[in-house]
Amino acid sequence: MSSAPSEYTQVAGPVVVIGAGPAGLTAALELVERGRSVTVLEADSVVGGISRTVVADGWRFDIGGHRFFTKVPSVKERWHKILDDDDFLTRSRLSRIFYNRKFFDYPLKAANALRNLGIVEAVRAVSSYLWARIRPPKDQSTFEGFVSARFGRRLYSIFFESYTQKVWGMHPSVMPADWAAQRIKNLSLGRAVLDALLPRRGGRTDVTSLIDEFLYPRLGPGMMWDRAAEQVTDRGGKIVMHATAEVIRHDAGKVTEIVVRTAEGEMTMPASGGVISSMPLGHLVNALEPAPPADVLEAASTLTHRDFLTVAITVPEDAAFPDNWIYIHEPAVEVGRVQNFGAWSPDMVEPGTTCLGLEYFVQEGDQLWTKADADLIEMARRELEYLGLADTEQMGGGWVVRMPKAYPVYDADYGAAIERIGKWLAEEVPMVQPVGRNGMHRYNNQDHSMLTAMLAVENLHGADNDLWAVNVDDDYHEEIVE
Ligand SMILES: Cc1cc2nc3c(=O)[nH]c(=O)nc-3n(C[C@H](O)[C@H](O)[C@H](O)COP(=O)(O)OP(=O)(O)OC[C@H]3O[C@@H](n4cnc5c(N)ncnc54)[C@H](O)[C@@H]3O)c2cc1C
Repeated sequence: MSSAPSEYTQVAGPVVVIGAGPAGLTAALELVERGRSVTVLEADSVVGGISRTVVADGWRFDIGGHRFFTKVPSVKERWHKILDDDDFLTRSRLSRIFYNRKFFDYPLKAANALRNLGIVEAVRAVSSYLWARIRPPKDQSTFEGFVSARFGRRLYSIFFESYTQKVWGMHPSVMPADWAAQRIKNLSLGRAVLDALLPRRGGRTDVTSLIDEFLYPRLGPGMMWDRAAEQVTDRGGKIVMHATAEVIRHDAGKVTEIVVRTAEGEMTMPASGGVISSMPLGHLVNALEPAPPADVLEAASTLTHRDFLTVAITVPEDAAFPDNWIYIHEPAVEVGRVQNFGAWSPDMVEPGTTCLGLEYFVQEGDQLWTKADADLIEMARRELEYLGLADTEQMGGGWVVRMPKAYPVYDADYGAAIERIGKWLAEEVPMVQPVGRNGMHRYNNQDHSMLTAMLAVENLHGADNDLWAVNVDDDYHEEIVE
């Protein structure tokens, strides 16, 4: 699926970039460096998108911790052009799984896994694995069936069932098996458990693919994107905040104008040089005027997202755990993961304290999303206490951040839907190029978002890159879920 056939490229004129997240700001940097006239529209009040860093009363925290790790040289180069070398910290990963009130090392280690599971549970896990080998579940079309067939029912229920339900809001018995195959790369978590319990089963090759060390900007990922925004404006680009792209008018494959809603009202702007869009793909389809055909609109309506909410709570540094984050597999609490931002960078927190980020996977409008901030903070404090991760008396201030559309959902239909939309856009409106995470409905990290943006800019200068071919399969995604 080619995104921008070359007959439409190399059109002079202003380029509009929708969204000032990693994809949008990367596109803008590449464009200003080529001397193009660029306007970035950002609906929110801050840049960085999901990769922003929230600043609250002197503490800083991410929307989930953001590791900087990439195998793409051009992305690495861009990171080091945006920030100075001494702005980056090199961090070692420490993250464990909390289950049944015990910490499991991750990657799993045989002694620790055995001690935590106990000999009886370990024997059950191995027997259930062997049973699954002899008598695999008949229905492997569901996540539950797929994982149970590979690791046995017992390991599935310990390490996959409750966490998967928390993250995606559905029981794994009603989720398509595809999801397991795509989301849990090589299912290395289950394999790691088996390797720990049956050490001679063939080594731990999958586990070595974990990212043990990564870069992290001293002041969080927002530092990178604030600096990138400055570089865009320093080089003559324009970034308009509180500006939502609402309508994209097109004619004969070219964009005639964009209607933008700002705090001051509606305005239109030219985009004859093209549009690079990181707004959610479904929204983009609906913004086009004239509208795409019914089947493309229908495809767009099927794209859904999972939303995310974080409650940050401060505690004294010595009252916290040493991990960067902990996965919470405990079904009795709502929290899915707890970050320790002081362990990411000491400059994120006040001296002597740290900031814990309790992460809840939610649906916009559900009972957690609509809960008052004070009640969410109270709940998070109770959950921290229940988990034994901190005492309520030691906890300081708390803040809540809601992030809509944090995860593009991969359901049974999403693949066909994006294929249909991508093909139509490439054929009918090639000067509008979708890029990035929600922009392409791809469950990707910053580096892939940035790479699609770079390739889109090249397309405006004569290249014929297929942005849809930049894929997340050949990478190092978080084995559990990011
Ligand atoms: C919990 C969590 C943890 C993560 N951890 C990592 C990690 O460790 N490492 C990593 O590299 N990546 C990580 N990611 C992924 C990373 O956050 C994304 O890949 C990245 O932010 C995507 O960049 P983007 O520019 O494509 O989209 P976004 O970050 O979503 O930015 C899009 C921007 O477009 C704006 N926008 C939307 N619609 C409009 C409109 N109509 N008009 C104007 N503006 C609009 C939005 O406000 C937003 O600012 C994580 C994500 C999550 C949810």
